[in-house]
Amino acid sequence: MLLLAKKLEQEIRDHGARDYPHECCGAMLGTDGDAGAREVRALFPLINRRDDSPRNRFSITPEDFRAAERAAAERGLDLLGWYHSHPDHPARPSEFDREHAWPWYSYVIVSVDGGVPKDLTSWQLEDDRTKFQPEVVGPERVAGQGEKD
Ligand SMILES: [Zn+2]
Repeated sequence: MLLLAKKLEQEIRDHGARDYPHECCGAMLGTDGDAGAREVRALFPLINRRDDSPRNRFSITPEDFRAAERAAAERGLDLLGWYHSHPDHPARPSEFDREHAWPWYSYVIVSVDGGVPKDLTSWQLEDDRTKFQPEVVGPERVAGQGEKD
């Protein structure tokens, strides 16, 4: 399960709307709890560097990866995954997404329909990399709840 505060979810939607009709992308930083829930605490927007087809392809360069890891470390957080938008396409991973994804990370996809953000989903690649499994996206943890040791 991916805990994503409404405010951060809105930031992803806004980023998708802003970059429409191109794809937006960014990193999600947070904590990976041992209760099976990871919590996004901050976003790290990236520039979609693919100039051949920025409309339906997103890719993370090694520089992006290092920058995202550095941003996470500076905040004392982990790099939990990545988000990107699907302009005028459903919020489901494409074959291209699968080929370029890594296991363990959460992949959030927001569909942007005619410039308006719609569905937001999250996915995790199976260890054998054959397919994605949907991941539940939940609201943020209520303060004081679930923080016990
Ligand atoms: Zn995609």
